[in-house]
Amino acid sequence: MPRRRRYRGQVTTAVASPQRKEHPSAHRTGPGVRLSAGTSAEPALKPAGAGISLRDSQPPLDEYYNALFAHFGPQHWWPGKTPFEVIVGAILTQNTSWANVEKAIANLRAESLLSPAAIDRIPLRKLERLVRSSGYFRQKARKLKAFCEFLRTEHSGSLERMFATPTIELREKLLGVFGIGPETADSILLYAGGHPVFVVDAYTKRMLARHGWHYENAGYEDVRRTFETKFPGDSRRFNEFHALIVSTGKQFCLKREPLCHACPLGRYREARR
Ligand code: SF4
Repeated sequence: MPRRRRYRGQVTTAVASPQRKEHPSAHRTGPGVRLSAGTSAEPALKPAGAGISLRDSQPPLDEYYNALFAHFGPQHWWPGKTPFEVIVGAILTQNTSWANVEKAIANLRAESLLSPAAIDRIPLRKLERLVRSSGYFRQKARKLKAFCEFLRTEHSGSLERMFATPTIELREKLLGVFGIGPETADSILLYAGGHPVFVVDAYTKRMLARHGWHYENAGYEDVRRTFETKFPGDSRRFNEFHALIVSTGKQFCLKREPLCHACPLGRYREARR
């Protein structure tokens, strides 16, 4: 198996020496509200082990999808004028609200910096100032630079070439870039590149946990596998379903008190009691 190369967002444009370093874990909701990695105020399910499914059966995800789509309609995700802007948003939205990300993106646009080459060239300190509103701005500026360095080094700066890489291979490579964890990698693959991967976030885990299908601390890959096997689909369905789950989380599946009586999935939760 090839060794994964790390791109760490150095100030200089020299290729960083291969070095493994875990990125900070990131819980974000995409263009929505911030979620921390907390748990519901409801009685917690006994954690017998992360990633273990609670039942042998699988959630009726097709029915969930249909119920949510009937209620919310198309979500038109991800807001972003270009694939690169989507990537910038996916990185900046880690641990912050979308409103803060929009301010940072507006700053970059005003300076004509919404291109990989421009981000690659700009001094790190200036980039930090421009993305300050998104929080953790020093880390995030480095992450943006790390991604652009990776793109330049591995794909000659071309997003088209990058996204022509087979999904599994590209996912593995993205996970080797400083600051890109599974959720960000999958957001980039799905929303910027149209690759058929499902994006799991804290809302997804909360919903499945409250319906008794997974523990809330289930592993990212376990939950992703559940969706990709039980809800087989193309990128369009994955795109829409993730966005619908975020809308559900913001409007009904609140952290402290879920509004199941009004939620389009309320009857499914009742059926599991
Ligand atoms: S019915 Fe809706 S609000 Fe209640 S747990 Fe399920 S997703 Fe959350």
